[in-house]
Order: sequence, then structure tokens, then C-alpha cells
Amino acid sequence: MKALTLTAPSQFTFGDVPEPELAPNEVLVAVRACGICGSDIHGMDGSSGRRIPPIIMGHEAAGVIARIGQDVHGWEPGARVAFDSMIFCGQCESCRSGHTNLCPDRRVIGVSCPDYRRHGAFAEYVAIPQHLLVPLPEGLSFEEAAFGEPVGVALHAVNLVKPNQGDTAVVVGAGLIGLLVIQALKRAGCSRVLAVDLDENRLELARELGAELGLKASAPDVLSQVRDWAGDDGADIAMEVVGITPTIQLAVRSVRKGGKVGAVGNLKPSVEFPLQEVVTREITVYGSCASSGEYTEALQAVADGSIRVTPLISAKAPISNGQVWFDKLHRGGDLLKVILHP
Ligand SMILES: [Zn+2]
Ligand SMILES: [Zn+2]
Repeated sequence: MKALTLTAPSQFTFGDVPEPELAPNEVLVAVRACGICGSDIHGMDGSSGRRIPPIIMGHEAAGVIARIGQDVHGWEPGARVAFDSMIFCGQCESCRSGHTNLCPDRRVIGVSCPDYRRHGAFAEYVAIPQHLLVPLPEGLSFEEAAFGEPVGVALHAVNLVKPNQGDTAVVVGAGLIGLLVIQALKRAGCSRVLAVDLDENRLELARELGAELGLKASAPDVLSQVRDWAGDDGADIAMEVVGITPTIQLAVRSVRKGGKVGAVGNLKPSVEFPLQEVVTREITVYGSCASSGEYTEALQAVADGSIRVTPLISAKAPISNGQVWFDKLHRGGDLLKVILHP
């Protein structure tokens, strides 16, 4: 089969590789669309240590079942599917309590690290354990379904924070996940959402997707603008989707006494944390990692239009052109989601 393989740091080869071998509990999915994730970009140059070549990356995908393993039940060739990007064991304490994202044996599709190598979906075919499969709602395109993972990440974070009807929320960082978090907050009942970002185009998109107002993070008085907008003592909720000191500080200072902060971004391993404000104002901080079972909800939300993903697609290209698009994303700039087609 044809695949796009990372063969050395930031170097891809497009060409023939062996088809994945199918374990008895796996299905072979013919990939129709696969999104490039931020983690692929941070991984391709070797900096994260989680894309050790050779590896076929790609975990945000959807396609059609081509073949099923001998122990697979309830799935047939021809079914349109997306799949959880994380293989979890299903047996451990975390998995049994529904926290599959915390499974100690979790393996991410399209990732290679010192512990494992699991080829992903920038290829004609990918092997997927049957318990990860999610059927595509009717009418949902493969491109939209490829957003199952990032939408699941946004829903997971918002589900943890549990907004009340009519809450006000500030989203610090309007990149791809931030733009999905804005929509997830509205979907969960927040009446007003404010977006903060450095980039004017992203703020405009944030407004188009449901934010009432977008504020430039670089404005010297951004905190007082946030507090003016929220009124009273601050917003009920802040979601931090960047992960550096100024943004976590802004998120904490945006909420009222007793408010809630969702921590999603983690660009930096450590930040300067406004401890005293969190303690004396009784602010609750929720760390949120990946998703745990939100795939079905994510695909439903995209199918029913409560979360819009099409405006987030910056480009579509064949996987044979993958090197060009990975290089563009690695240089940074305006691109949000790039979808590759085998
Ligand atoms: Zn991803
Ligand atoms: Zn487990």
C-alpha cells in the first residue's frame, strides 16, 4: 500500500510499504481523510520524542472498513467509521472507571516512542482494534469525521468543568482547540463567551463561531478589558488553551471568586502559577488530558451542526504531498487544520 512515512527528523518518504498485519480483534480501515495534528508537527522534528522514525503518523482519521479480523463481531466491511486515537487496555482501574485517557498502557495511533511503535493513518490502510471504532452518523463527511479527536478533546475539557446554564466563559487561546472549546462551551449552555488571542484572524473566526467578543492578548490592559466584559468579579469559567505563564495567569485572573479554570494547553512543562489568587479566591483548576469516550458525542455534535469544523479546514491535499504541508505547518503561520487524503 502507499503511505507517507517519517523516515528521519522532518523527512518524509511517500511510497509502498507492507499492509498492516491484522490482529484477530482488529479491522483494516481504508483511510479516506486524516488531519495533521499539532502533536505531529511538534513530533516530526524529534523534539517531543514521540515520533521516532520510521513511523507513519496520523491519528485524526476516518474511513471505510475494508477487512475484519477473525474475532471481530458487529462490524462489517463497507461500514463508515472513525476511531479513538488512543488504544486503551479496557481492563485496568482507570479504564473500568471510564478514564480510558489515563490508562497506563495506552498507546496512541501514529506514535512511536521508546515503549512502542504504532503506525497511523497517513496511509491507504490502518489497523484499528474494534473497541476503538465509532460509526459515522449519516451525512457526515470523512473530512468532518476526521475532527472526532480534536472535538473530543474540547468536549472532554468542557465536560470536566461542567458549565451551568447561563455561565460566562473566557477562552484564552483561539487556535484549533480553542475554537472548538468556544463552541463546546456554547453547546453546554454558556450564554456569553469571550476569546483572547494574539492573532486578529483567529479572533474573527472565534466571533464567527460564537464568541461574543475577541480581545487581543497583546493589549496592555487586556485583563481589565476581560473583567469589564465579564462584569462583577469576573467570569464564571476560564479555559486555558495555550500553556504558558501569561496565559495561565490571565485565565486565573479572569474568573470570579469560586470560579473554575479548565487547563488544556501545556506548551511549557512548568509555568509561574498565581497560587495565592487560586487559594484565597477558591478557584478550582481542572486539568484535562485528551478525551475519554467523547468520540460518539463529538461526531454527533459535528453532524447536528452544534460544533462547526468546516471553517477550520485550511487546506486539503493528497498524502503524496504531505512533506510540503508538514513543512508549512512546521514554519508556523495562519494554518489551522490540514486534511490529507490517501
Ligand atoms: Zn490530534
Ligand atoms: Zn487501561
